[in-house]
Amino acid sequence: MAEQVVVIGAGIDGAAVGVELARRGARVTVVDSGPPAAGTSGATFSWTNSNGKQPRAYHELSIGGMRAHRRLAGEVAGSDWYHEGGNLEWGDDETEREQLRRKVDSVLEYGYEARWLTRAEVLRLEPDINPAELPAEGIAYFPSEGWVEPARLIGHLLSTVDIERCWHDAVTGIDVAGGRVRSVRLASARRLPADAVVNCAGPAAAQVAALAGLELPMNNTRGVLIYTSPVAVSVARVVHAPRVHLRPDGGGRLLLHTHELDDAADGATVDEAAVEKVVEAGCALYPGIRAASVESVRVGVRPIPADGLPVLGRARELPNFHFAVSHSGATLSLHAGALVAAEVLGEDRSEELAPFRFERF
Ligand SMILES: Cc1cc2nc3c(=O)[nH]c(=O)nc-3n(C[C@H](O)[C@H](O)[C@H](O)COP(=O)(O)OP(=O)(O)OC[C@H]3O[C@@H](n4cnc5c(N)ncnc54)[C@H](O)[C@@H]3O)c2cc1C
Repeated sequence: MAEQVVVIGAGIDGAAVGVELARRGARVTVVDSGPPAAGTSGATFSWTNSNGKQPRAYHELSIGGMRAHRRLAGEVAGSDWYHEGGNLEWGDDETEREQLRRKVDSVLEYGYEARWLTRAEVLRLEPDINPAELPAEGIAYFPSEGWVEPARLIGHLLSTVDIERCWHDAVTGIDVAGGRVRSVRLASARRLPADAVVNCAGPAAAQVAALAGLELPMNNTRGVLIYTSPVAVSVARVVHAPRVHLRPDGGGRLLLHTHELDDAADGATVDEAAVEKVVEAGCALYPGIRAASVESVRVGVRPIPADGLPVLGRARELPNFHFAVSHSGATLSLHAGALVAAEVLGEDRSEELAPFRFERF
């Protein structure tokens, strides 16, 4: 059994893996070059879903993630980082409507919860929506979806177990000898002996893998998120409208996004006119949003392995080096983290991880 495990990255994946390793009896050090939750997990839409995820194995992994969130939230009093309010989605033109019909048909075939609502039914769920923005019918509702507050979940996870926390100290080297990782070197010149290492470095996972001599192809993309000031508008769930996606963000704040907005990021700078356009779409949908101002605009980097699927589990050529790298980490982390941790400790080698192994590249 690996007794001393170094987890690289204190985002939602690193926290999930670290806590599960510690619960299973390992001595764990979680290392981050910054503070916890300051990477992608601090700038994410964090919608928990398996809404059209393909192939089937990815769908099932996501369902496992949604169940794990529900289970944890059910076990912990005051666990209000998890919000299972459902998700509404509709199209603007015939092409979008047809895409949505196909998606709903395909998730229903998988036994996933989805149903069609009329305008009147949606207004009972979301009374502050401007009725003129809704079609009379054909609004898809996915009741088991929701969203998480990753920073609060990470805080909770890290507080529940005895692990060494090593913040503001980047991993700069990984020592390999005899086909195994022996230790991890940090910017502070510290050297951490390791029976096993888990790469949870999110968008920097390729650089961390390279330190161990492994090549992980990644196609990271930028995403732009608009956070409003607190505002007295009733938004109770995730909403994917044609020109704006939004959800509550705690304390009365709202979080707004569209995929078009992602193109407006130039590094950390975002075109103001593009932000204004999304806010305007939010105000058209929920007129009460006019009372809000934009509190911040954040750019997050999606950690996307080259084929879009997660990379999970042990590297065959370096058997004590493991991966937990994924887009959809907000959905997957608790479940995928538990599978990865079990494998690190040699307790289980889940078949569920088979489609997501590093060797497929
Ligand atoms: C705009 C946007 C929208 C998204 N929407 C969703 C969604 O709706 N649903 C969903 O499920 N997912 C969504 N995601 C993806 C999800 O947020 C990520 O998959 C998840 O946050 C990744 O978590 P992580 O812990 O793997 O990475 P991170 O949170 O980035 O954590 C990695 C950590 O590793 C540290 N690190 C990196 N290199 C080193 C090093 N050399 N040494 C030490 N530490 C290091 C970093 O500092 C960082 O803290 C979205 C992402 C974005 C950007």
